[in-house]
Amino acid sequence: IDFHKASFRDFENIPGMDAFATAAYFQEYLNYLRENGHLNYRIESRSPVGPEMDLVLPGSAQATRCVCLVSNDYLGFSQHPAIKAAVIAATQQFGTGSGASPAIGGHFSYHAQLEKRIAAFYRQEDAILYTTGYTANSATLQCLLHKEDLAILDMAVHASVYEGVYNTTVKTFLHNDLDMLEQVLRHAQDKYRSKMVIIDGVYSQDGDVAPVRMIAELAHRYGAYLVVDDAHGVGVVGDSGRGVIESDNAFGEVDLITGTFSKALGNIGGYVTGKPEIINYLKYQSKQHLFSTTATPAILGIIRAIELVDEEPQWRTKLWENITYLKKGLSELGLDIGTTASAVIPVKIGDIPKTLEAGRLLLRAGIYANPIMYPAVSKKNARIRMNVMATHTFAHLDRVLNAFDEINTRLLIRKNL
Ligand code: PMP
Repeated sequence: IDFHKASFRDFENIPGMDAFATAAYFQEYLNYLRENGHLNYRIESRSPVGPEMDLVLPGSAQATRCVCLVSNDYLGFSQHPAIKAAVIAATQQFGTGSGASPAIGGHFSYHAQLEKRIAAFYRQEDAILYTTGYTANSATLQCLLHKEDLAILDMAVHASVYEGVYNTTVKTFLHNDLDMLEQVLRHAQDKYRSKMVIIDGVYSQDGDVAPVRMIAELAHRYGAYLVVDDAHGVGVVGDSGRGVIESDNAFGEVDLITGTFSKALGNIGGYVTGKPEIINYLKYQSKQHLFSTTATPAILGIIRAIELVDEEPQWRTKLWENITYLKKGLSELGLDIGTTASAVIPVKIGDIPKTLEAGRLLLRAGIYANPIMYPAVSKKNARIRMNVMATHTFAHLDRVLNAFDEINTRLLIRKNL
């Protein structure tokens, strides 16, 4: 493997090399990255999530205060005093753990309340909770789809969706390409027991959104179900923060909505909401739900966060001011930010070595943003990805813009260069 151009995926399953031998070889690759200042992952923070964090940078024992654009805590809710108070009160009242899986003693009033609350958020009657957003997708799809069924995925869906369909017949369509989706649907016609189109609301690497209404219309015309994962849309997109379901006015048009409590809602856990029968089926049939201990009482903080999405819209307003400000500044520098319409903002560079070097230079300038490459994006599509928060100030964002200006002078990452 050419370490200079390699990505983590290249070490996933090397023919003729067992896992422990591969691990030793992978360690050589990590050492190579470290020596070049490019092992900028798993950086330890010694301060809470925020627009600035105290980071232990590679090669240093001390923490350095950096401007951070790596957190999905878009509204700053992981640090909100009212939400913290709700978590503390929940812990005082119910303790730290739930003690069992849901069917056999681990179902408490706080789970029931959160199920109803997140369902109502999307104008549905019921929802199921999972340990993470990742499991919500992978477990649900695994439970509902089998070899006789066809899963039709937008190519850019999250890894958790790909994991959910590994045991199903799968076809993909080019990102947001409705003509190609229609072709796949038409071609599939009656060859499968069922067809399910699976898309993200907001795409995690480009930050762009799906035309949910149009896709729902198309899917249903061809007798397919539609599942939308709106992990990055919740709390951010739509006038009242209901995500793309709201911004695209697709309430009632989607068969299952999945999402996570770990981003704008500032906690952890995943959910799926839809018609009561299908949710109930999952509650008794989805193994990762059925055989896994339920969430801790701290999820009462999520209920407070959902209330605050409505009660304190000023966070969403400020977030969008920041998004607009950063996008404008990056575009004025001639950088390629694609078609983002959310708090995920990529600076597309293309080349893996240049992207790793841009990540290193940003860190040197005291800016923490993630280099993203294959397999998260296709091989020629490496980028720096930023997550904007309501708690960033324009001064923070100016520092980011200045750093990109300098990086562009050194690495020539501007569009069409
Ligand atoms: N869906 C999307 C689109 C995501 O970006 C993520 C990423 N973190 C997930 C699901 C998984 O959510 P969680 O982090 O709660 O497991």
